Amino acid sequence: MAEEPKDTKPGFLNPVAGFGVTFKAMFKKRLTEQYPEQQKTTAPRFHGRHQLNRHPDGLEKCVGCELCAWACPADAIYVEGADNTEEERYSPGERYGRVYQINYARCILCGLCIEACPTRALTMTNEFELADSSRANLIYTKEQLLAGLEEGMVEAPHAMYPGTDEQDYYRGLVTEAAPGTERQDAPSKGEVVQEAESTFGPEEPASEKVIGR
Ligand code: SF4
Ligand code: SF4
Repeated sequence: MAEEPKDTKPGFLNPVAGFGVTFKAMFKKRLTEQYPEQQKTTAPRFHGRHQLNRHPDGLEKCVGCELCAWACPADAIYVEGADNTEEERYSPGERYGRVYQINYARCILCGLCIEACPTRALTMTNEFELADSSRANLIYTKEQLLAGLEEGMVEAPHAMYPGTDEQDYYRGLVTEAAPGTERQDAPSKGEVVQEAESTFGPEEPASEKVIGR
């Protein structure tokens, strides 16, 4: 049986020996961060809250393809695509993301979704303060994720820059909204389409309309 090493310290030092570690730590550089009073700057390529980007004229880059949702290992993304029309256009191509949600109760901020996005519509910001006490509040909607309007942009829906196609948008040839671009009505979101006033006087009484045979 191995012999136990002898304690060579005088016995009266035993009660204070444990404080040696504390004493040494007093002269080391402190690692405590004074968050949230002092915010730490994140690394430039930090994976924070997502953002849905716009083209320079304000149209949305998302085409509702759902590739981000399929790439997500945590099943945190929900997308519903829809068709653009000339009367209600949100993106330059055929389709746009009508519904877009990210559930931050599930998201592990891995970034696989932004790698999968073919249009660079989805990127990640440096924002990391995502905690909340409500599960419902952790589901971010398209309206929350969509980037704000910058100079030269007009809020979608609106027409594409005249004389361009979606390829021109992806090549970066469109740099701002065309002069006179106006936001369209959005019936799909419950907005009432403004009908032009009739030049033939008031409508006929409803009772005289043929509504079926
Ligand atoms: S960062 Fe990762 S976990 Fe979060 S939504 Fe994207 S793919 Fe899913
Ligand atoms: S964010 Fe990108 S990958 Fe996701 S639906 Fe939109 S275009 Fe597709």
